[in-house]
Amino acid sequence: MAIYQPYFYIIQDLENLKYYAGCKYSKDADPATLLIENGYLTSSTTIHQIISQYGISRFSIRKIRVFNTGDEAFEYETRFLQKVNARINPRFYNAHCNNGVLPSYGSSKYKSLMIQKYGSDNPAKVESIQEKIKQTNLARYGVNHPLASGEIQDKIRNTMIEKYGVSHAWQKPEVRAKIDVKQRNKSISKTKSDPVWKETVGKEAIEKQLRSTDQVKKGLTVSETKSSIEWKEGAGKAARNKMKETLNDPAYRAATEKTCPHCGWSGYRSTYNRWHGNNCRQKNIDSGGA
Ligand SMILES: [Zn+2]
Repeated sequence: MAIYQPYFYIIQDLENLKYYAGCKYSKDADPATLLIENGYLTSSTTIHQIISQYGISRFSIRKIRVFNTGDEAFEYETRFLQKVNARINPRFYNAHCNNGVLPSYGSSKYKSLMIQKYGSDNPAKVESIQEKIKQTNLARYGVNHPLASGEIQDKIRNTMIEKYGVSHAWQKPEVRAKIDVKQRNKSISKTKSDPVWKETVGKEAIEKQLRSTDQVKKGLTVSETKSSIEWKEGAGKAARNKMKETLNDPAYRAATEKTCPHCGWSGYRSTYNRWHGNNCRQKNIDSGGA
C-alpha cells in the first residue's frame, strides 16, 4: 500500500564512502521505496549515473528521518546540508546546500516562499524568478522545465519497452551498457550545451571535481590546473582515456551514429555535424551549389 511520508535521508557510496543527503516530499514520498529497483534513486543526476553504471548495491542507506510535512523535511535537509557544508565537503556528493535553491514548483513550501518573497504564489509571471526556476530545474532534473523531464523519461521508457521489452536499463544487465551510453549522452549533451548550465551547475561541478586534486590544494585555478603536467598526466589523461574508450565502444557508436540524408554517409556525430546534413556537399550540388 502506498503511503505519503516525507523524509530526509543519507545514503553512502560503499566504494569511496562518500555521502549524499536529500529529502523527498513529493506526493509519492515513501521511505520504503528509497534505493530499490523502480523506486526513488535520489534527485541527483550524479547518483543516477553511478547507479546506472554500477548498480544500486553500490549505495547503502545510512539514515532516514521522517517528517509530518514536506516543508519540515526540506527545512531539516537545508539545515543539515549547511551544517556539514555539503557543497564543498569532499565527503559529500551534494552540489549545493539549498542556498537560494527553490523547493519543487507547486509544493506548499514553494507557494509560501513565493508569497513571502514576491507577494504572489504564481511567480512564473515574475521575470526575475523565471531564471531562478530554470536554474533549479537544471540542477535537479538536468532540463529547463520539469515537464520536459517527464517527457524525456516517457520517451526513454517507451524506447526501452519497444527495444528491450523492459522499462528500465538495470532490469536487463546485458543491455545496460548500450542503454546507459545512449541515454546518458542524450541528456548530458543537451544539458551541457545550455549556457545557463555552463555558468551555474557545470561550473560548480568542474570546480568541485577539481577541488579534490592536489593542484587545487596548491591554490591553482581551474585553468592553471588543467594546463599543469600533473593534471595532463593524471586525472586529465584518465578522462581522455575514458573518452577514447567510450568513442570506441561499439554500443556508443551504434547509439550515436548519424546518417546523412543527402549522400547516405553514416558515422560519428561530430563528423556528421561538420561535413554532412546542412553542410553536405551533395546537398549543395542538389540545390545548385552554394
Ligand atoms: Zn552527406
